[in-house]
Amino acid sequence: MKLSKTSSNTQHFYQEELKKLKEAGNLRTLPEVIHDGKWVLSGEQRMLNLSSNDYLGLATDTALRDEFLGSADNRDLLFSSSSSRLLTGNFHIYTQLERLLADLFGTESALTFGSGYHMNSGILPAITDSRTLILADKLVHASIIDGILLSSGYSIRYRHHDYRILETLIQKYHKNYSRIIIVTESVFSMDGDVTPLQTLVELKNKYPNVYLYVDEAHGIGVRGAHGLGVAEEQGCIKDIDFLCGTFGKALGSIGAYVVCRERIRNYLVNKVRPFIFTTALPPVNIAWTKFLLERLSQWDDRRQWLAEASSRLRTCIREMGCECTSESQIVPLTLGASEKAIEKAAEMQRKGFYVLPVRPPTVPEGTSRLRFSLTAAITPEEISRLIQTLKETQNK
Ligand code: PMP
Repeated sequence: MKLSKTSSNTQHFYQEELKKLKEAGNLRTLPEVIHDGKWVLSGEQRMLNLSSNDYLGLATDTALRDEFLGSADNRDLLFSSSSSRLLTGNFHIYTQLERLLADLFGTESALTFGSGYHMNSGILPAITDSRTLILADKLVHASIIDGILLSSGYSIRYRHHDYRILETLIQKYHKNYSRIIIVTESVFSMDGDVTPLQTLVELKNKYPNVYLYVDEAHGIGVRGAHGLGVAEEQGCIKDIDFLCGTFGKALGSIGAYVVCRERIRNYLVNKVRPFIFTTALPPVNIAWTKFLLERLSQWDDRRQWLAEASSRLRTCIREMGCECTSESQIVPLTLGASEKAIEKAAEMQRKGFYVLPVRPPTVPEGTSRLRFSLTAAITPEEISRLIQTLKETQNK
């Protein structure tokens, strides 16, 4: 078949773009990964999965799954909601989950979303107008950046964790805007460092009409006395205006939530487009999330072991002479060029550790890295073997 001129130009455009990505070492392909959660299988080889967000090992805990399916009520649940929540998708299990979230966090209400991506890309445009200024940490996740891009507010990204600059910006602009929204993550997804939320709370309280939006995607489940995240650990749940998190990581499910004031929830139900114009998550998923959330406070032993294993890996990386600002289960080994990260990941995989390279645009240019994402399912022997292998392969 002969291609029209427009169509062949388009093909050329795609080819050129793919070529550029390849030349920069940033071409991505979709790996088909066979794994049972803990082990990734490739032919005869079995590799320890160090790239999972199942931080507490809940998603693959067969005993929990059996308990959940042991209840006839759960077995009867639908696998599709077949509608948006504003039509016929708002099953009673949603009310139960959102009530549970609000009770756990001690807030007035909660609202759930299809995913963390829906949540961030939906809430931020909904809560801003042309008189709103968004001040976001430089390293926030792509879903937050997309939310900012879709919003009609003005935005500035401040240097990562630089609260002096942040305050200068607030002082400079707070009279020009009707509202300022500070946006941050609690545990940063690529560096694993933790935000001093209390400092941000103190800062926002110094000025009128400054609000705080926190994404706890990597903090929920793993931090805090009851697993409610960094905000719980730092004692500031009630001081955060929009406290958000996801269910797809430590909580072993799918979806996301914001806990907030009742009137904010009512507003979001009316304004968040990725909430309104999408099919609600299946009731069976919502029930599974609720089932896990009800047990969250029980898993302190898993949280403690995860913290200890992560601390051992961070110490190893620092002893290797690499800078590592992580304070969590996300532990990067920054290598610089994309090629270096790709080679090192391949080497670790040959040695039985499934760790992946992270490259631009996910991380800034020149900071390609291996991103170790530990889970509580790792054993003391496995973490020792990982550390030993990293040391043995250093500078090879
Ligand atoms: N926020 C952060 C900080 C994340 O790291 C991610 C996922 N990597 C998301 C939001 C998106 O969450 P979800 O996977 O549920 O869409």
